[in-house]
Amino acid sequence: MSKRASGEAVSKRQVLRQYFGYDAFRPGQEELIDSLLAGRDVLGIMPTGAGKSLCYQIPALIKEGITLVISPLISLMKDQVGALNEAGVHAAYLNSSLTPGQYQKALAYAAAGRYKLIYVAPERLVMEDFLRFALYARISMVAVDEAHCVSQWGQDFRPSYLKIPDFICRLPVRPVVGAFTATATAQVRDDIVRLLELDRPKVLTTGFDRPNLYFAVQSPADPYGAALEFLDGHRGDSGIIYCLTRKGVEEVCEKLIRDGFSATRYHAGLSDEERRHNQDDFIYDRRRIMVATNAFGMGIDKSDVRFVLHYNMPKNIESYYQEAGRAGRDGEPADCLLFYRPQDVVTNRLFIENNRDNEELDAAARQEVMERDQERLRRMVGYCYTEGCLREYLLAYFGEKTDGPCRNCSGCDGQGEPVDVTEEAKAILTAAAYSGGRYGAGLLADAVRGARTEKIRRSGMDQCPSYGAMSGISADRVRRIITGMQSRGYLSVTGDRYSLVGPGSRAGDVLNGRTQVSMRLPREEARPKRVKGKRVPGALGEADTSLFEQLRALRMEIARKEGVPPYIVFSDKTLAHMCIVRPRNKEEMLSVSGVGAYKYEKYGEQFLACICRQAMEEKGRTK
Ligand code: ADP
Ligand code: ZN
Repeated sequence: MSKRASGEAVSKRQVLRQYFGYDAFRPGQEELIDSLLAGRDVLGIMPTGAGKSLCYQIPALIKEGITLVISPLISLMKDQVGALNEAGVHAAYLNSSLTPGQYQKALAYAAAGRYKLIYVAPERLVMEDFLRFALYARISMVAVDEAHCVSQWGQDFRPSYLKIPDFICRLPVRPVVGAFTATATAQVRDDIVRLLELDRPKVLTTGFDRPNLYFAVQSPADPYGAALEFLDGHRGDSGIIYCLTRKGVEEVCEKLIRDGFSATRYHAGLSDEERRHNQDDFIYDRRRIMVATNAFGMGIDKSDVRFVLHYNMPKNIESYYQEAGRAGRDGEPADCLLFYRPQDVVTNRLFIENNRDNEELDAAARQEVMERDQERLRRMVGYCYTEGCLREYLLAYFGEKTDGPCRNCSGCDGQGEPVDVTEEAKAILTAAAYSGGRYGAGLLADAVRGARTEKIRRSGMDQCPSYGAMSGISADRVRRIITGMQSRGYLSVTGDRYSLVGPGSRAGDVLNGRTQVSMRLPREEARPKRVKGKRVPGALGEADTSLFEQLRALRMEIARKEGVPPYIVFSDKTLAHMCIVRPRNKEEMLSVSGVGAYKYEKYGEQFLACICRQAMEEKGRTK
């Protein structure tokens, strides 16, 4: 190894330790950093939470000159710049949230070389005053965040991303370019390399697995009730509830607040101001639960989100994995639960058919996009129906193989023996045929269970030959069987506004006895397994838990004073690590993961004092 290379190897670790307080690189980070330091373009494809930012932030701090970070969203920039400044790095953003005065001042500082990293939105690159600055500044690296925005096949196409290569061409010296994304499909990847004109880049894809996330799918008859049960395991935790529609957000949020939860909401129908306000409430821990449409989340770096509950099935696996992936970015256990109802398929189909995002495409291309979207939706439905390991299904979608079931998902947990449900399937099919496909799954389930409701009487389903044929069986189980029959094509789902269930294309095989139906179902006496939530990261003992709460309170106090989100002071993971290490001095404190030199200077002593106080109290108690 040359002297220069080994010199750099030392300093990149030093930077990691000193500014970010971490001891080791995560998979892929080191390769990407080395490549950028050596002047070679990179394309880093890593899942949300894998640590893409460090891949350009560390070279930015080591290299001479300025690194320009192109990022699609103001909220994203604000968060990142806030975190960098908190870590002692000089960084700034230039965007429309600044007043003209602030903007000019920031630009002047930038020209004077005050910042190592400058965040801009792509639209900024074509503006006169910015260009004037850029042409004279020493821009040694351009990092393109959320690089998939350049591809019209991705989900977040931003035409202004296409202007990036022009901008780079105009610079006096071509900087090294790093592109980063969490979208893994081959088409998007090729688009990024081609459209951003990356120069023989090092392309690195790290594993998409997020081992700390527990995945679960449920198909509850009463989603709100099931949500309450789930939230019961997450008291005091921060989490996100995604709904498919604005109306859904309003309803769920209102109910939660009425039931005493600390919740807020976010969707495109709210004013900018309310959105910002609600988002801040969530980020600063003033509200615990964010109920939102998919408009929420891009650029949210909050690392201590302990759960993501999808109240409805999203439109594709990419969206699902990205949204669910906002849980547990700190690496601590977190829960990702998805509620599925056939109605969600109908709603998503409507969204796809009425999608106006691609109006600049010609008719043939639009048709192609629509078909692709339909296919993606089918794969999403497949996830809800899969009886095997959910993680295996997700990773396979992204082209990754796993070594067998993960043992950390509801698919793996619920893996009972396959049960023969042929008789049940016949009863349900009989009811579906009798109804002429006019009713939803709920009413069919009520009919075969022999419910005596007004609705059943009015529908005439109490006259159906299989009325009451499954009277001893729980509603949950009947619905599971119906769901399983839909996935196998024994039942069909139709309808525009409500999903209606009728006999499917393979119904005959069951009714005439040619096919046996078997499914893996949870044992009857077991309640649907509640997704377990851990409030305190890792497995802390009782004394540690009490210390953890005190450190959390101290963190909150500091965060309030400084006007930054608590997790930016220290993450939950760092606090948990403090509880285990119980540092008594500066040196020991610096050994805690997430405590860098700069942060130690700012907060170290206060946290040491808190730990010391607790130790004395414990001693006092045992005497
Ligand atoms: P991404 O942009 O890939 O979604 P981030 O860059 O926001 O992810 O990183 C996610 C979290 O992981 C952040 O809290 C970050 O500080 C942390 N992190 C990144 N790299 C490391 C590392 N080498 N060791 C420990 N934590 C890390
Ligand atoms: Zn699994």
